[in-house]
Amino acid sequence: MSDGVIYVKKTVDDNPGGRAICDFCAEPDPIATFPASNFAVSIVTSKGSYTQEYNDDGWAACSWCELLIKAKDVPRLVERYFVIHPLAANLLPHRRAFLRGLVSTQFELFFEHWTGEVLPPGPAVTP
Ligand SMILES: [Zn+2]
Repeated sequence: MSDGVIYVKKTVDDNPGGRAICDFCAEPDPIATFPASNFAVSIVTSKGSYTQEYNDDGWAACSWCELLIKAKDVPRLVERYFVIHPLAANLLPHRRAFLRGLVSTQFELFFEHWTGEVLPPGPAVTP
């Protein structure tokens, strides 16, 4: 897939330098982990369909996203994504609309799969 606009959840190991980022908005140095069971999202585009899978490693969150998660505020999480996340920058309107739908779905599914626990950040963000 070459659109390059589909990934929300990242692992710390995928980032240059291994610096952890928030899985919701990509801010560096998350402060909490939200454990969630694995799930998948089916994605249909004009170029085909595929499935994006999310593992059960837990979702890292920055302090702002932690507050929004605890409030279960999906609309504001999505808004924050579109203000901060690099993947949402400089998109053509149709791609922006596509990504907005995808991110909304991902965040709603996260809440369906979140265990309700809030844990410290993963080992990669511990100095
Ligand atoms: Zn965040």
